[in-house]
Formats: sequence, structure tokens, C-alpha cells
Amino acid sequence: MKPFTYARAVDAADAVRLSGAPDARYLGGGTNLVDLMRETIELPAALIDVTGLSSTIEERADGGLLIGAATKNTAVAEHRAVRSRYPALSRAILSGASGQIRNMATVGGNVMQRTRCAYFYDAAGSRCNKRDPGQGCDATDGFNRMHAILGTSPSCAATHASDMCVALAALDAIVHLSRASGERTLPLTDLHRLPGDRPDVETVLEPGELITAVELPALPLAKRSTYRKVRDRASYAFALVSVAAALEVRRGTVADVRLALGGVAPKPWRAWKAEEALRGQPATEESFRAAADVELAEARPLRDNGFKVELARRTITAVLSELNGARA
Ligand code: SF4
Repeated sequence: MKPFTYARAVDAADAVRLSGAPDARYLGGGTNLVDLMRETIELPAALIDVTGLSSTIEERADGGLLIGAATKNTAVAEHRAVRSRYPALSRAILSGASGQIRNMATVGGNVMQRTRCAYFYDAAGSRCNKRDPGQGCDATDGFNRMHAILGTSPSCAATHASDMCVALAALDAIVHLSRASGERTLPLTDLHRLPGDRPDVETVLEPGELITAVELPALPLAKRSTYRKVRDRASYAFALVSVAAALEVRRGTVADVRLALGGVAPKPWRAWKAEEALRGQPATEESFRAAADVELAEARPLRDNGFKVELARRTITAVLSELNGARA
């Protein structure tokens, strides 16, 4: 492993100051950064430990929550207000990784985790545009069953691995950021980039910019929200397809809806088109399936992952039907 400096930040301003070194990286509790350093894929000049930053969950007067970026995933999943007001988030976190990892992983680290595309990890034997821009992508003609069907480019079809982020995308989460020039916020759905011709650039963060908190705005319909993850085995597996959804139905009509998908795109995929297609429609299985079709119309499967289109259609329909049935 290449030599690097290590420093533990005492607060966000300290972390941003320490990140002045080129190729600095922030270390949350359970990200795959250390794995990637062992594989010499990530070679930071400086590693800044930010696990000691804010780990509180603050209840806002309007009913929202402000979750410190260093809050452990387990603490979020078990928090009373998260379980009662944003159950999709609790379920998404509990469906990810293992108990041990959730006890270590932080919210900020979860957001910043990188893809588990096997070719990305195989520095010795595979071409990867994300690891080495311009080199090519061996997943395109390789084993691509786990890869993305939406938002891909000829350069990269890797999926974003997080379950938590799919729920955050559906729940209108806001990311709080700190940088040398001050602070800013942006919707989580705007944080991650699609690959285009630069799959190595995964977020809109500026160099040294740090996630300090994730805000969940007050969202009454989130009380009736859920997360379903379809995977190859019952635990410790990444999503083939996952769905986070919240649904509000009045007199049999969809009054409002939130829908996001995981396991199908290079970023947590907010299903904006499906949402738009559903509002004002009868809350029926036919409407849910039609909305899924609208969202999936632009799916571009590779050789091995065409099954994800039908799996996503069925999972969206099933999750919305479940939420609709739970009204009674
Ligand atoms: Fe690399 Fe993306 Fe291709 Fe995987 S899909 S090998 S991460 S460029």
C-alpha cells in the first residue's frame, strides 16, 4: 500500500482544512474505501478520519430530521422517529450489509460508497473506465448480470450499491455540505452523477467538500412508505432490483407518490416519470404497472441483465399495491 498521512478531524472545518492535500479522502466508518486501498485502486495521499464528527439525530420543529453524517447506520434504522415517520429508510438500512457492518457504517460513508462492479475491483486483469479513464469497460461484453439498465453510457454500466440512498432519494433527502468557501445544501438526487463519458467522476462534490448531515424534510406521506429489496439470497447480497416508495391515496385516486429504484442504475434512481404518470390516476394495479412501464421505457439492458426490466416492473407494481392495500 502506498504511504499516506492519517489525521483525525475534530470538526467539519478541521476536516475541510486537512483535506487541502491533493488526493485526500475522508474515512467514514464502513465504506469500501479501505478495501479499495488494499487493492491499490484508491491511493490517497492523505486519509482524514471523520468518524468523530456529528452523530446526532436532531428532530426539527416541522417534523423533519437532521442526521449527522457520522451517525451509524444502525442508530438511524432503530431511531423511533425514523421508524414511525420514515419506515422506508429504516427498512432499507436493515436490508443492507450485515449487523456488524451497519454498526460501523456511517450515513456519510454509505452515501459515498463506490460500486462493487467486479471489473472495477480487478485492477490486475480487467479494463475499467471508472478506475482508469479511457481504458475501456470489460463489463460491456463480460458478465453483466448485476449491472445497470437505466442511466448507463457506453463507458460504464455499474450500479450504485447503497440501499439507504434509494430510500433517501424517495424521501426527498437534502445533503448538507461543508467546503473551504462555506456551506451549501443540495437534494440527494443531485449529488451523484450519471457516468456519461466520465464514469470516474461520481458526484458533484468539489475537491475537499465534506458531507456533514443528511436532512429528511417533513413529509407526511412518508409515514406510509416501504422498501423492498430483491436479491439472490436473503442477506448480505446487493440488490438485483429494489424499490422505495411512499403513497397517498384519496378516494381511490393517487394524490401523491414517491418512488425510487436501486440495483438498476449508476445512482439512486428517482422514478420521476413514473411519479408524474401516477398522480391523479386510479390507485389500481393497472395504473401502477403502467407507471412502471413509463419509467422503464428507456431501459437499455446488456446481455445478461434483461431480466431486471421485468423484475423492476413487477417489484414497483407489487410495492405500490402493498402500500395501497395497507390503507384499509
Ligand atoms: Fe468499470 Fe463501469 Fe465498466 Fe464496471 S461497468 S468495468 S465500473 S467502467
